Parts: sequence; C-alpha cells; structure tokens
Amino acid sequence: MATCCDDNEHDPAAKSVAEALEIILAAASPPSHSEVRALDDASDRVLAEDLRTEQPIPAWPNSAMDGYGLRCSDGPGSRRCVGAAFAGHPFTGELGPGECIRIMTGAPVPAHVDCVVPQEQCERQDDRVEFRSALRPGANIRQAGDDLPAGAVALARGTLLRPAALGVAASLGRTELRVYPALRVAFFSTGDELQGLGAPLAAGQIYDSNRHMLRALLGRLGCQPLDLGRVADEPAAIRQALTEAAAMADVILSTGGVSVGEADYISALLQELGQVSFWKMNMKPGRPLAFGTIGSAHFFGLPGNPVSTVVTFYEFVRPFLLKRMGKTEPWTVPSLRLPCATTLKKKPGRTDFQRGRLVATAEGWQVAPVGAQSSHILSGLAQAQCLMVLPAEAGDIPAGSLVEVQLLEGLV
Ligand code: AMP
Ligand code: MG
Repeated sequence: MATCCDDNEHDPAAKSVAEALEIILAAASPPSHSEVRALDDASDRVLAEDLRTEQPIPAWPNSAMDGYGLRCSDGPGSRRCVGAAFAGHPFTGELGPGECIRIMTGAPVPAHVDCVVPQEQCERQDDRVEFRSALRPGANIRQAGDDLPAGAVALARGTLLRPAALGVAASLGRTELRVYPALRVAFFSTGDELQGLGAPLAAGQIYDSNRHMLRALLGRLGCQPLDLGRVADEPAAIRQALTEAAAMADVILSTGGVSVGEADYISALLQELGQVSFWKMNMKPGRPLAFGTIGSAHFFGLPGNPVSTVVTFYEFVRPFLLKRMGKTEPWTVPSLRLPCATTLKKKPGRTDFQRGRLVATAEGWQVAPVGAQSSHILSGLAQAQCLMVLPAEAGDIPAGSLVEVQLLEGLV
C-alpha cells in the first residue's frame, strides 16, 4: 500500500515535468528594455540587437599557411622570390611572371597571387623556390567573406554572449553592445535547522548548502544574485523576506518549506502576498514545487533537499531565467540518448532524474549512475556530469538500454 513516505507512489493528480515547464515558460516574458554596455562587461548578457557585418569577414584574402605565394597561370616549375608579406605587413610590390613571395599566415594575399604553397612543400635555394606539390588556384587562401559576407547577421538578437560570441562581436570592432539587463534574482533558504557557515552546529542543526549552490548557479547564468540569507520557519519572517524580495528583484527563489507538512502554512501566506500555486510534481527528486507571482516578481518555491533544489533549478528555473533574460530557444538543458553502462534501479511511477557520469568504452560513450540516488546525497551530484532522465512508467532499466541524458558538465 502506498503511504505518505513511499517515495515511488504514483499520484494521478501530480503534474508532469513537461506540463509544469509549459506553464512556467508561458509566464516568462522577454525583457521590455535594454541597455548599452562595454563589450568586456557584456559577458553572459543576452544581445538585444542584431549585430551585422559592415564589411566581409575576413575583409581581404589572406594566407592560411606559412609558405610561398604565386600565380598558377605562370605554369609549373620554380619561381624567383621577390619579397615577403607578413601578418600586419602587406607586400606592396608587383608580382612579375615567374615570381613568388614569401607569405605568412594571416598576411594579405596580394592581387595576382592565387595560390599559397606551404613551406614544408617548398625547397628554397637563394632566391629560387621549387615546389614539391601541384599548384592549384585558391589553395591555402582564405577568401574575403569566407566567414561572413557584408551585411550578414553575425550574431542575432537573443544570443547569450558566451566567450566565442564576444569574440565575434570584437572581430566586428564593436566596443559597445546593446544587451538586456541582468536579472535581479533574490533568494533565501528556509528552515529552523539551518546554520550559517563559520558558526558551530548546535544539536539538530545542519549547514545551509542550498543558498551557496543557488548563488553559484545564478552567477553562471549572468544573473545578479541578491542573497537574503536564512529565514526561520515562521510566517512573519517569511512574509518579511518575500516582501523585501518582491521590492528588489525580478525573480524570487526560496528553498525548503514546500513539502506536505509545511505547504499549507506557507501556501496561505503566499496567497495573501501574491498568486502562487503549489504543485505536486511527478518527478524524483523534487516532488513539491511552488510557482507564481508576488507583486511584479516571479516566485519559485524549491524543495529543500539539496539535490531536489538543484534538479528543479535545472528543469524549471534555468529555462525560465534564460527566456526571461531575452535569450532565444533553446532554454532547456541539452540532452542526448546514450546506452547505460549498468542496470538502472527504478520503481515505476515518477520521472526519475538520476545523477550520472559519462563513461568512455570501446563502443563509444555510455552513461553510468554516480553515488546513491537519494535526494539528500549531495556528494553524488557533485561528481555528476549529467542527469539520466528515466520515464515515469519505467521500472528497472537493463544495461545497454538507450536513456535520455541531460548534460550538466560545464553548466553546473
Ligand atoms: P524541506 O523542504 O524544508 O522539508 O526540507 C527537506 C530536507 O532538506 C530537510 O532534510 C532539510 O533539513 C533539508 N534542507 C532544507 N533546506 C536546506 C538547505 N538550505 N541546505 C541544506 N539542507 C536543507
Ligand atoms: Mg524545512
């Protein structure tokens, strides 16, 4: 018989991850204003304009190799070297019949040069150069506009400015970019048992780990984290934290206090301050979740178990924030399908987000579980590179089966 403590009971009233995500994303409106920032201060912001090229990229043909530049139509055979072109120092002379120039990678290719022979395939004796490879027009020359033509969209509005995107903007010579503002995200943890770092633990206390994870997760998304600290399990304290948070933030995150025992109690408070729904989720970990608005801020009440906090952040909060930041799709964590290296233990009923690592095998990449899979086992999550998303209806999954893998590596 299912009991309140049976982790795997199936509740037909519970929301699926897909249903909840749809509601959450529908509520995430893109930002209404933008600002101009220096390129070097725009990392992890979302671009609020289309960046177009004014000239082709590259703007002129240049050499892809260190070698010798020549004209193929002069025919086969050796050439006389009459000059040199270095990156930043073009060859300014004329290339006569039967002549070539020394040319380095990135140096402009002069008119009349239509082939670069890599130096490894050349033999030089004084000013004569012999070629050991066939002379082919266009060889080892990066043509103007190879990367992008003039007037092309180099980066579209809605692009998250990761390092390579900033590099593209820099290659266009941009010093400033129009971007959307960083989201202000206020967060606090609830629980009478929580102690701050640096203080000794009294009986029954634990250190507050969720808040530190949330700060790091928000930092990675380029959000402005507003840490409101630990809040006691008391209506007055929670009311004050929520009111303060709603006045200063675009989004509010809390952890803890949304499980069955406490839900009704906090629920009443949230109904008083805003419009918040409590959902029982058909997932493991992360069964309880609250979502709604308080004033003009959106609110997520995440479950308190640390693994549940992180998993619900990835599944719901991160997509919401990315869309709200103005980023275009995709908003969800990238996923692929890989064979599992071992049998995965699971009871039917809920979608399971098991922590995993990628394993290199002779047959290619596979995925294996890491650490115990309970929602309080944080050490396993710290070693995980991915979440294995196991369908609600599935029981044990035999080794070798293809499973959905959401990659967290580089994102956690
Ligand atoms: P709750 O969701 O408040 O019922 O908490 C569920 C479990 O997560 C309990 O074991 C809590 O002690 C633990 N927990 C809640 N908040 C935190 C936190 N900020 N850091 C670490 N553990 C927490
Ligand atoms: Mg609690």
